[in-house]
Amino acid sequence: MLLCDFHIHTKYSDGSVELRRTIDIFGQAGFDVIAITDHVVNGDNSIGKFARRFKFSVTAENFDEYISSIKYEAQRAWDKYEMLVIPGIEISKNYISPDKSAHILIIDIKDFIPACMNYERIFLDAKRQDTLIVACHPHNMSDMSRDTLFLWNNRDKYAKYIDAWEIANRDDVFNVISLKKYPYIANSDFHKVRHLYSWKTLLNCEKNVESIKQCIKHNKGVAITLFRN
Ligand code: ZN
Ligand code: ZN
Repeated sequence: MLLCDFHIHTKYSDGSVELRRTIDIFGQAGFDVIAITDHVVNGDNSIGKFARRFKFSVTAENFDEYISSIKYEAQRAWDKYEMLVIPGIEISKNYISPDKSAHILIIDIKDFIPACMNYERIFLDAKRQDTLIVACHPHNMSDMSRDTLFLWNNRDKYAKYIDAWEIANRDDVFNVISLKKYPYIANSDFHKVRHLYSWKTLLNCEKNVESIKQCIKHNKGVAITLFRN
């Protein structure tokens, strides 16, 4: 099975590791597939303005450079490690109230999607680009300050747009996802080197972007594992 991690941050947002070194860390650890998913933060409140000021967000201005850097590194990762690297973002709608906040991975993205748009527009643009849409850390976490509950609380309205839900994020497991029988994946939410050791996804499919998206969407041949040193 393919060892995968679809939720990874670099210095393009609030990660502490440069893109190139991140690729080498995952390549040397034997991963088959990773997605780079730096934050795209909403700028319509002080939290978002702070994030942008301190360059903790990919923006419309540097999106093309972000994607071309990932593509350059993806070629190197394939040549050196036979590891597939997929460009993505994490749409990060941050508000004071966790009930209003939501984070969404858009994997295999081609064009920039602003986080300030409403949910329907974000989901429809992501669908138009034939991406994989993942609801991140959708339920209560061990670190309550990171809770993002909007999509779970409004799942009756939005579940139809979501291809998979994170059933595990780093050290947290969300059993509500299995109770609802939603498609699932597990990711590290990598920001620091030690986050390599965390929940991961195993996929029983070919090592190419289309097969991986289909495998996750159909939720067939998907398993999770706690990756330890
Ligand atoms: Zn997040
Ligand atoms: Zn994240």
